[in-house]
Amino acid sequence: MSLLTKKISNLFYSLFPEQCLHCKALLGNGEENLCFSCYSKLPLYQASWVSPEKNLITEQLKHRVNQINFAASYFYYEEDGIPQTLIHHLKYRGFKNIGKWIENNFFDANNTLFFRPMDVIIPVPLHPKKRKERGYNQVDSLCKALSKRWDIEIDNQSVIRDVYTNSQTQKSKMGRMNNMKGVFCVNSHQNFYQKNVLIVDDVLTTGATIQAIAQEIEEYQPKSINVLVLAIVV
Ligand SMILES: [Zn+2]
Repeated sequence: MSLLTKKISNLFYSLFPEQCLHCKALLGNGEENLCFSCYSKLPLYQASWVSPEKNLITEQLKHRVNQINFAASYFYYEEDGIPQTLIHHLKYRGFKNIGKWIENNFFDANNTLFFRPMDVIIPVPLHPKKRKERGYNQVDSLCKALSKRWDIEIDNQSVIRDVYTNSQTQKSKMGRMNNMKGVFCVNSHQNFYQKNVLIVDDVLTTGATIQAIAQEIEEYQPKSINVLVLAIVV
């Protein structure tokens, strides 16, 4: 960094100091998105990486997704908790760098066992209208980081979201299931036959979204269906 760039950067920082996304404390050296205190309180769901074949997510999905194999989540989702803040900023406030931040902070050697078998990443697609409104899919940056690190293809084309669904947050479990029926359709299926498919979403609540997308993919005989989310509601 040249002296001038450094001066400009210091001036910018003094005018617009960065705050912790969660507690709003000013961020210091080495802190990014969260202050160290909030970072240390993140509710990590590490057990899902240690036991990707048997955990809360696979238990929730095993009778609903025939070929569910591995599943993992980075965090537990808590009402008003830190993961909720992160996901809110990612989805609604344009903090697209959160995927990169997860890579920098949470990708480790243990994850390799999970990702090594994967052939293709399917980011849960947004309806084109919603994508246009938001300008991006909130899981894109995470998928790109995963793809680069573990050399897995990202497929944004094979599954499309046909139906615009309203916010799921107020719906009951049954309401969510019904709301998701027929929402996704497979556009092209070359990437599924005998492949280990990894579906990536932001939050897993009832599993209705994952179930709906997995049921479409299962028609085309994948070797396995696997799930990764940023946070799981428990
Ligand atoms: Zn904080």
